[in-house]
Amino acid sequence: MTPDEFREYGRQVVDWVADYMEGVEKLPVRSQVAPGDVRAALPAHPPERGEGFGGVLADLDRIIVPGLTHWQHPGFFAYYPSNASGPAILGDLLSSGLGVQGMLWATSPACTELETVVVDWLAELLGLPDHFRTDNVGGGVIQDSASSASLLAILAALRRTGDAAEQGLTGRHTLYVSTETHSSLAKSARIAGIGADNVRVVGVDPATLGMDPERLDRMLAEDIAAGATPVLVCATVGTTSTAAVDPVRAIGEICRRHGVWLHVDAAYAGVAAVCPELRGLNDGVAEYADSYATNPHKWLLTNFDCTVMWVADRAPLTGALAIHPEYLRNAATSSGAVVDYRDWQVSLGRRFRALKLWAVLRWYGAEGLRDHIHKGLEQAARLTAWITDDPDFELHEPQTLGLVCFRPLWAGGDEDAATMRLMEALNDSGALYLTHTRVAGRVVLRMALGGVRTEAEHVRAAWEAIRAEHARTVVGETA
Ligand code: PLP
Repeated sequence: MTPDEFREYGRQVVDWVADYMEGVEKLPVRSQVAPGDVRAALPAHPPERGEGFGGVLADLDRIIVPGLTHWQHPGFFAYYPSNASGPAILGDLLSSGLGVQGMLWATSPACTELETVVVDWLAELLGLPDHFRTDNVGGGVIQDSASSASLLAILAALRRTGDAAEQGLTGRHTLYVSTETHSSLAKSARIAGIGADNVRVVGVDPATLGMDPERLDRMLAEDIAAGATPVLVCATVGTTSTAAVDPVRAIGEICRRHGVWLHVDAAYAGVAAVCPELRGLNDGVAEYADSYATNPHKWLLTNFDCTVMWVADRAPLTGALAIHPEYLRNAATSSGAVVDYRDWQVSLGRRFRALKLWAVLRWYGAEGLRDHIHKGLEQAARLTAWITDDPDFELHEPQTLGLVCFRPLWAGGDEDAATMRLMEALNDSGALYLTHTRVAGRVVLRMALGGVRTEAEHVRAAWEAIRAEHARTVVGETA
């Protein structure tokens, strides 16, 4: 493709994306295709001869779009949001256009140094402690996902125990999560070679669904007495299921006493700390967290993928991962004066993700980011009030940040099955998309606010649709 052809098709692509943004609301939120439909519509074999880009755009409309669930639809409330904003999309396009690979400082100094600046900026915007800044012993890095961040935290924590470096895991190494911790911790444990039996699941306070620190303390003491080496405790600020917040300070004090790494998974909720009044969420992080991760790619207007992970001390992380083959040796690395982010992640190669986060931070400014979080919070507050006032529904409490969990009430029968039928009917309608979870054994619906295009009227319309479907289902079930 020549630069002129690129210009021509590039304009068409940008127009296509802008049209998509304008028109996404008219599409069904959840894809309505059946398994295999998309594949069947595509040729079984690759083209022998190259073809024009126009065909790709035509097939995008004809085959791909119907097979998409539209995460940017204003009626998308299903999972935590995956905000794709204009500046982030353009930043990502620039990253693709530049095509640089920032594995080492030397392979593109600006790729590394811009990343250092934006993760330090974000630490400041979130009120995170100074020791997370790169000029100190810690530092931040952009990862693809919070799942990778938890794996890296485990690898760094293992390194700090001193056991794993030479011989691999020889003794019994244990991890501590709660019943509400994201499944990526269990997956990361497997990858790190920690068996499922050594992923110790701590119970939660049934009222808050936050990890019970006393049970954690007891479990750690018992495991240590039995000869185990506790590696890491994961505390969550904003669980996936209900946005519950673990008592980080109490957990941190216990970790400190037992000499265990504290990782704080704030994938969803952490970015809310751009609003100073919400920084209480991170109480204890400054004093106790060895690592902390949050996802601008969820609620901070930065399209996937962009997780920012900070460590209080970078030495165990880079110590766990740095390998220096001859072909990567260079003067800058040898000087010790530069950061090589390949030593902070699993893969060697890395995309220039900092560009999109930089574009977002500059376009919105701290003020615009706060407005975006406030918009989601206001929508959640309004929805919460409607649910509370409606005798046909029960709110899950505590309601936290932009996630609202609730249960439709039924006059008897299999309530969970009725709730699931209600949800499927709503999702099949194409107007909105919800998911469910279980709290204390019962099905609860989840509605996550905070989408880029979701405005007050969309939340109102969704709530009216939920009430109408409930009323219809009640009549249907009792007829
Ligand atoms: N941790 C929490 C608390 C989450 O809610 C999620 C996803 O929703 C994850 C981790 C996984 O995030 P990622 O897709 O970035 O790995």
